Amino acid sequence: MTMQPSLPPSVQVLVHDWLSANCVVTLDDDHEASVVDSGHLVRAEATVDGVRGALAGRRLSRVVNTHLHSDHCGGNAALQRAFGADRPCAILVPAGELQAVNDWDESGLSFVQTGQHTEAFRASSSYAAGDELRLGGLTWQAHAAPGHDDHALMLFQPDARILISGDALWEYGFGVLFPELLGGDGFGAQRRTLRCIERLDPLWVIPGHGPVFGDVASVLQRAHARLDMFEADTARHATHALRVLLKFHLLEQGRAVPRQQLWRWFETTSLVRDTLARHWPRQSPREAFEQTLDALLRAGAAVEHEHGVSDPDTSGGASG
Ligand SMILES: [Zn+2]
Repeated sequence: MTMQPSLPPSVQVLVHDWLSANCVVTLDDDHEASVVDSGHLVRAEATVDGVRGALAGRRLSRVVNTHLHSDHCGGNAALQRAFGADRPCAILVPAGELQAVNDWDESGLSFVQTGQHTEAFRASSSYAAGDELRLGGLTWQAHAAPGHDDHALMLFQPDARILISGDALWEYGFGVLFPELLGGDGFGAQRRTLRCIERLDPLWVIPGHGPVFGDVASVLQRAHARLDMFEADTARHATHALRVLLKFHLLEQGRAVPRQQLWRWFETTSLVRDTLARHWPRQSPREAFEQTLDALLRAGAAVEHEHGVSDPDTSGGASG
């Protein structure tokens, strides 16, 4: 029997699609509210509308980011503009990325390597593992969540046993282990993060993508099995990563992209190039591209028509 998630009324989750991370709105008191993660830039308008509805007249005082991928911080600037004309909301980022954000170092933030885009913003301060944050009238502990991202943090509320997991744990899996693609220890880090979640023993998890879920023990078991599978066959993880990166790019484009243009993106994106060089040094990049795209087409994760390739849910209109 699956139970309906029961979150405190001061914690509201705006569940978005896979391009744009979920946005958690916490009603901190009668006057102020915070947001954890702000979605992707191309969905910023919808995020602002959703947050406006949830605020119910409160002031947005803070935006907190679990990590700084384009689908988690893309609405930061738009939220600041929409709600802070006289007194802009504070933006809190993981400590390891404060400097890169405030220098707007697109390479340090990995946007250059992943070929992704977002709108620049300035952070007011940072938080780190071991810190406590007050959100929705409750105290949340920050925990390190390396694996998907070296600097990522999760937020845990020990009384209600709620975890805001970012991309460290989804109901069916977890985000690509980017540090692994770059020669770091993504598998070991992810294992430590899953063990940390095990110890915290949450009743409910608010993931970065997908609906809130319970039955966390089963979810963790599945995540461990997935991690074991990737660790035993690192090329499988790299193949998965290439598909995710290409699919994400298609979602980000939101329109049909001619195959040749898609190939240009693939061959010039440095994380793709590095992944190919590390795992398939003898294969031609063009061949790897065709295989990656064919896998998406076969799985129905992309469609091809006269105007090019697009996500099946985006209209296949002419490319701009
Ligand atoms: Zn992420």
